[in-house]
Amino acid sequence: MYKQKLSISINSSFDRTKLCDEFEILMSNLCKRGQIIGPYETPFIAENALIAYQTTLEDTSLSEKYYDEYTAKRIGDIENWCNSTLRTEVIGKAISDHRGACQCKKPDFYVLFTHALNDTGFLECGTCNQIVPLYKLAQLNYDDRHEMLSWETNYKSCDNLQLNCTVGEKWATMQMSDPKSSLSKQGTAICQRIWEATEIPTYYYLHNYRRISLQKDKERLCPSCHGNWLLKKPLLDFYNFKCEKCKLLSTFSPVAF
Ligand SMILES: [Zn+2]
Ligand SMILES: [Zn+2]
Repeated sequence: MYKQKLSISINSSFDRTKLCDEFEILMSNLCKRGQIIGPYETPFIAENALIAYQTTLEDTSLSEKYYDEYTAKRIGDIENWCNSTLRTEVIGKAISDHRGACQCKKPDFYVLFTHALNDTGFLECGTCNQIVPLYKLAQLNYDDRHEMLSWETNYKSCDNLQLNCTVGEKWATMQMSDPKSSLSKQGTAICQRIWEATEIPTYYYLHNYRRISLQKDKERLCPSCHGNWLLKKPLLDFYNFKCEKCKLLSTFSPVAF
């Protein structure tokens, strides 16, 4: 992951409030496309320039070849109004050992996975176990991306409720664990859509947090089709359960004893 600076000099008398608003909306456009890891940092104005520092998966994430039509149009407008060109520069690499970006040509499968503290992407590659840059999945349309970000926010909200324990903990845990919950339905529909668009099977992760014996946890069946789904050895060093038919993954409960 990289820290990048986006900046543009203002060489005109164009309305600055409008420029600031448009520059901020641009961050949201880049975020939707996956070119910036959300939530984006608030841009600011300094003397005669609009500036934003953002996190990206790759050093090339902000390349214009990944813009969608909305981003390209907005940048064109801002450049015209400012009478200058948008500059992007890599200013540093993430210190923590985040996973890098998947470069696989044809991954075996993808996994839709996130959690409250995840500050990188939410689509994992089943071949290299790295993060898939969403801006490279040209097969996905604007609505797909909107739905994915909606699911990501919903999932993190549920995980935060669960972690905070005081409001809606049980409900949030159910949302993340039950394949029939609204959250899981939204997530599995996204997996289905990614599979259709990319022809790469996409699995959905189900949370598992139950104070039961490890033996009982191992006897758990797929909560959707009730078939056996226990794996002999963990998949991607993490998942203990996999249902090929339902395209679901899960782990042992971290509090099983
Ligand atoms: Zn990969
Ligand atoms: Zn199943």
